[in-house]
Amino acid sequence: MAIAPAASLGPATALTCRECGESYDLGPRYACEQCFGPLEISYDFAGITRADIEAGPNNIWRYKGLLPVPSNVESTPNTEPGWTRLVRADQLASALGIQRLWVKDDSGNPTHSFKDRVVAVALAAARELGFKVLAAPSTGNLANAVAAAAARAGIRSAVFVPSDLESQKIMATAVYGGTLVTVDGNYDDVNRLASEIAGEEEDWAFVNVNVRPYYAEGSKTLGYEIAEQLGWRLPDQIVVPVASGSQLTKIDKAFQEFIKLGLVEDKPYKVFGAQATGCSPVSAAFKAGHDVVRPVKPDTIAKSLAIGNPADGPYVLDAVRRTGGAVEDVTDAEVVAGIQLLAQTEGIFGETAGGVTVGVLRKLVESGQLDPAAETVIINSGDGLKTLDAVAAVARPSANIAASYDAFRKAGLA
Ligand SMILES: *Cc1c(COP(=O)(O)O)cnc(C)c1O
Ligand SMILES: [Zn+2]
Repeated sequence: MAIAPAASLGPATALTCRECGESYDLGPRYACEQCFGPLEISYDFAGITRADIEAGPNNIWRYKGLLPVPSNVESTPNTEPGWTRLVRADQLASALGIQRLWVKDDSGNPTHSFKDRVVAVALAAARELGFKVLAAPSTGNLANAVAAAAARAGIRSAVFVPSDLESQKIMATAVYGGTLVTVDGNYDDVNRLASEIAGEEEDWAFVNVNVRPYYAEGSKTLGYEIAEQLGWRLPDQIVVPVASGSQLTKIDKAFQEFIKLGLVEDKPYKVFGAQATGCSPVSAAFKAGHDVVRPVKPDTIAKSLAIGNPADGPYVLDAVRRTGGAVEDVTDAEVVAGIQLLAQTEGIFGETAGGVTVGVLRKLVESGQLDPAAETVIINSGDGLKTLDAVAAVARPSANIAASYDAFRKAGLA
């Protein structure tokens, strides 16, 4: 397969092993040949200013000078995600006894989850690297995003999901017309299958497998936007849902890059990770003081976070410990309560991952791990309409009445 020259992926210069530091030319590789460690993009950032960024479009390409994408990335069809709203959440804050709280509402992306960000970057890089098919193993949201982005780009998509996925996510993927395969097994089984296929089908870019270094960088845009939308400054604390752990580690990377580039003032901030107890390998490792993450078999309604063997788990532990944060987990009942609390205080209907994040926020405040006086941002990473089953038992009509005023009175609704 043709490997594009480095210059065609904007500021990206090389792939570097996170473990041993070995460096490779930019190309379709993702694991170190020396130590099998994961590869990460290295950059040479030209002096980039706030004005450069502010002059860009209201989507993630305003940060293209910080991403591994061609400099003319806007000229190829993509879903153009990002620049989602950062909502001041005073009522949720007072319900929890916090002073300054914001919700970064990523349900506003084209397929209603933060996954559009990572897929847009993976698609742009995959085209440049010569891949023909956009593929992914997915817990649901990634399948939506890949199928939509490929449809818009006019290329084939092939996504693989666990067969017990929410019906909303199956339909919201199938509608885009690509290849959608349900697999009898959990996400970790699906992921293993995808790695096997990726090893055989050279033209297939599995966004989170063989082009993962590029894909992962898309999550940085969440961190960039939060800092820019706060008026070019960093929050004191941020609570991030953790599946593979990529989103959390890249938000931290984004904050670090903004500090290094002088785009925000250098200041301490704490990164917190949120998991569902039914799939909490990173939280368990954090609490036990371990550096390695022991895989688990997921059993939770938070299916978008149900990765039992998280690729970036150890790096989540690094970021959380380095910044003085924590990883916490909540039960499925607390997830549902979190969804309701966010909806009823802020009018934001998050998916189960949002319920996990709100539930963990509450728990961190109650346990004194999170400072209620410090400015806090939480991520709502997906739309509640994708996980309706989670609230089916609690989100019910107040009453059913005949179409008469008398019936309305009798039902005690006035
Ligand atoms: C995938 C996903 C996450 C977390 O993603 P990782 O980067 O794998 O940790 C969070 N929320 C939602 C809704 C997701 O779909
Ligand atoms: Zn290595």
